[in-house]
Parts: sequence; C-alpha cells; structure tokens
Amino acid sequence: MRDRAGHRGIPRRLGADRLPRPREELLDLAPLDRVLAQLDALGLNYQKNDSGYAARCPHHLSDVDRLNFEVVELDNDRYSANGRMMPTGSVLLYCQAYGDLTGPDACSQSNVISALGLWPSDLYPGVGDRRRDDLRDGRRSSLDSAFPSRTPPTDEEIEAWEEKCASYAAAVIAEHGLPMEDLAVRLGVPAGALARFGVGWRCPDYRRVGEATVVGRCWTLPERDALGRITAINRRYEDGEKRVMRGGRRGLYIPDGWRDLPGPIYCPEGFSDAAALVGAGRCAIGRPNVGGGVELLAGLLRGDPRPIVILGENDDRWAGPEGRPAWRRPGYDGAVAACTRLRKALLRMDITAALPPEGFKDIRAYINGKGGLS
Ligand SMILES: [Zn+2]
Repeated sequence: MRDRAGHRGIPRRLGADRLPRPREELLDLAPLDRVLAQLDALGLNYQKNDSGYAARCPHHLSDVDRLNFEVVELDNDRYSANGRMMPTGSVLLYCQAYGDLTGPDACSQSNVISALGLWPSDLYPGVGDRRRDDLRDGRRSSLDSAFPSRTPPTDEEIEAWEEKCASYAAAVIAEHGLPMEDLAVRLGVPAGALARFGVGWRCPDYRRVGEATVVGRCWTLPERDALGRITAINRRYEDGEKRVMRGGRRGLYIPDGWRDLPGPIYCPEGFSDAAALVGAGRCAIGRPNVGGGVELLAGLLRGDPRPIVILGENDDRWAGPEGRPAWRRPGYDGAVAACTRLRKALLRMDITAALPPEGFKDIRAYINGKGGLS
C-alpha cells in the first residue's frame, strides 16, 4: 500500500524490452490462463494468494517484489460495479497502486488490459466465433453474454443479416402466414404485433445438438443495433428453445413504428414480452438477456422524451437448496442494474425498474392472464 499513499505521481509505463505474446495464440485458453501467460511473457512475477493471484502490475513500473496487481477468477456468475453480467471464469484485474487514478497514465482497466496485450473481451470465457467451449468442459456459463468489447459488425455483415431476415420473412408469406399464426397462438400475442418485429420462418434449420446436426424448423427473431440495423438472429424452436445464430452481435428487439407509440417505453427481457406489450398497444423494446443491451438502449433512446421502464422478471422465491428462499434474484437484480446503467448513460433519473405483479413470471403472462394491460 506504500505505492498508493507514497508516490501518487504519474505512474511510469513499462519499458518495451519484453513484449506480450500475440493474443491470437491465447484464444483457446481460459481467461485466467491468458492473463498469466502474458505476465510470464512480460517477465512479471506473480504468486497465488487467498483470492487469486498477486502480480506485478503490467502498466506501471514497480519494484520487483511489489505484487500489488490483483488477478481474480470468478467462481460464480456476478455483476460488475457497472452492472455488467460477468459469467463464471471471467477475470477481474485491479492495480492497488494506481487503479483508482484517472487520466491517460492511470492503471485503468483499459490500460492494464492493453498493457497485457489483450482485449477486454479476453477476460471473459469464450471468444466470439473462435470460442472453444470443448476446452472448458463444465466451466462454461450457460448465459448468453453480449461481449461488449467485440468489434462492431462490418457493413457487409449487417447486409448479410438483413438479407437472411428478408428471406425468412418471405418464407412466412410463402406459407400463407401460417407460421406467424402458429406463433401468435403459442405466445398469446397478436400476429400483427409479431410481424412488427420482423419475425421470420426458417425451414429447414440446422443446429448442433451434441455431436449431431439436427434438421428442424424455427422462427427467426432479428436483433438490432442502436441504428435499427440487424446484427444477429435469434431462433425460437417449437419446444420453446432459443438459439442465437453464429457470428452475430446480440441486439435489441425493436418493433416497426416504435417511435409513434405512446410512452412509457418498456424495456423487458426477451422478444416475447416486448411483443406482448406491443400487442397490448404499448411501446416496448426487448433486451436480449438479463444483463445485455443497455449500451444499445442508450444509443437508441438518447433524446427521446418518453419515460423509460426497465422491466424485470419475477424470480422463483423458493429456488434455493431444498426449497429454501433463493439468495440470488437475477431477474430483479438484472433489472435494477440495467436501470442504473441506463440512468448513467443517458444522465436521466426518470428511468425506473419494475417487476410484473406478484404471481406472474413475466409481463406476457400477466397480459395473457388479465386479457390486457390496464
Ligand atoms: Zn499499476
């Protein structure tokens, strides 16, 4: 701690005598091993302690024996201070000496990560299209995390997603609208509301199940960025399973004409809640999952004067071991975290988080149970 109290000056960067390994060589490793490999490459010593590893900081020049850089691997899914979902196996980094300083020379997250020759996404399990989940047996999170630091899609990629969606929408028409009618019945949502989200139909559809490729059919749900461009397609199967197509960037479920709908703007989790709200005459933008989509919402809703309500889901209160009360409430916590982050991003305090009334898992169940939204 002498660093922190002692010389609070500008930290000096490491000399360039030793270089990190190219990050491409590390993509198959777990996040913790990526970090340790780079500390090795940079000649920075580290040792195991109670919470993880203590190392020399890669960004500021410290004495050889001063291990004030913390490396912690998460053994549980949790939220970071800014509300981002961090799945099991993610790595937290913190320089005790200069981690709290601001400015270009501080040991900020971006500076320590780039000093390690890594990208922010490298601290999360998996790495986009090249993730090797088979190397992480039993330790992978089942959450769909939107890795916020992936490079944005190119215009060509967006064009390819738009073309796919157009062909799936055409398949609905070729089937005389029957797939849309079917989904409307299953969800209890008017077909007209589904159509506003650009729902399509894919038959045949191919997906991996274990080692096998399964041929089936599914509805396709476009996900969009803050400009309304399609950057991913989620698939919904007849048994309710959902699967995102490979290579996309998770986005928002945005209905046609949303700017003309009366406020407030509801932001529930998932497509079907957003569609149910639009079916009930409300304005709704669906978030891709419990922790994701806030940056996109901020971009989409900036300057919009309507009130914003982040809608969570009611968690099972008795989901703890042997039917005891649950100690984690991801639906509630996620809504509050998303609300907090959106307030900060938009500098607005009139953004609220809300849950469906007691006894209803989500807002679609409530609307269907009540025959509407009063
Ligand atoms: Zn440092």
